[in-house]
Amino acid sequence: MSIQENYNIIKGRLPQYVELVAVSKTHPVSAIQEVYDLGQKVFGENKVQELTEKYPLLPKDIKWHLIGHLQTNKVKYIAEYIDTIQSVDSEKLLREINKEAGKHNRKINILLQVKIAKEETKFGLEAGEAKIMYEKFLNGEFPNIAITGLMGMATFTEDENQIKQEFLNLKKLFDELNQLNPLETLSMGMSDDFPIAIECGANSVRVGSAIFGRRDYSK
Ligand SMILES: *Cc1c(COP(=O)(O)O)cnc(C)c1O
Repeated sequence: MSIQENYNIIKGRLPQYVELVAVSKTHPVSAIQEVYDLGQKVFGENKVQELTEKYPLLPKDIKWHLIGHLQTNKVKYIAEYIDTIQSVDSEKLLREINKEAGKHNRKINILLQVKIAKEETKFGLEAGEAKIMYEKFLNGEFPNIAITGLMGMATFTEDENQIKQEFLNLKKLFDELNQLNPLETLSMGMSDDFPIAIECGANSVRVGSAIFGRRDYSK
């Protein structure tokens, strides 16, 4: 199927209120432009270097989301234009983003990435750490960022009950933090599990291969 057909199918499966982040990592600028031309404005990349190469070649009104693990020493390369960093998994990183955003006189949107999966390989904060960081933000410690929500990735498994339980755990934390001060975004769900994520309360999904096709890492 073509990218256009894939895109229309995904859009058709998402309720109106759910934001789609089109995950374009490993795919060429031409494919991103094709999806942009269909009306998509929000794209996600997971590596600073790849984003840095693609950014100058694409329309400036794209809202770029960084969704992959970010090292503090690389924040400076994207601070001028990144719309949202979804993968904030330490207070040190939060401080660095706040500092670099300040240099450009702007505010960067942040999602706190919370570890909900059982796998050791997945990054993320513990629920308690996320809560402390959100409280510090609400106390005004990070004036150049806006913590707008939470992000989580479920375990890579066929067991839908497990995936559901993990998403529900994150929804619970979202509701708890939302009581302190309203949050906008609960980012959960990828190509294979976004319907479950939406069922569990996600209002933003990160979909890559279901739009762009399989990623070929051999090239
Ligand atoms: C690659 C990636 C996605 C998209 O994955 P697909 O299965 O291709 O939809 C979503 N979120 C994160 C954090 C990713 O790294």
